[in-house]
Amino acid sequence: MSNKILAIAIQTKVCLICGKQHKDDSAILIDTRLLPKEIAETREAEMSKPSAYGDCKECKAYKEKGIVLIGFDESKSDFTLKPSGVGLYRTGQYIVVTEEGYKQFPFSQEHIDAGLKHRCMFIPEQFALELIKNQHG
Ligand SMILES: [Zn+2]
Repeated sequence: MSNKILAIAIQTKVCLICGKQHKDDSAILIDTRLLPKEIAETREAEMSKPSAYGDCKECKAYKEKGIVLIGFDESKSDFTLKPSGVGLYRTGQYIVVTEEGYKQFPFSQEHIDAGLKHRCMFIPEQFALELIKNQHG
């Protein structure tokens, strides 16, 4: 009598905007080998580890409302890591601005265009803090 089962897990993704791990709109992963229960459980734990990148639900919703600005520290970031954004050191600021507001920022046209296209932009922590201060002040 066989006591073997299939290892099944929901894929974990990492949101490149906010950096959190999530399972929003994730694929279901199935190891098609029949495995003894204990081995299948180990395999499921492995399969549950982050294995893809993709926007989380919250960031997706904010991107529909405006441009998402994420504060980061350039000196602590690794720009060589792929996909781009994965090595950026996020400093905790998360700001959503309207397209019109975003176009007023003192960025190069290239950065403005990239932000409008991707609906998000990493900005220096100091600039993010100033934005937040002016918003409330
Ligand atoms: Zn996110």
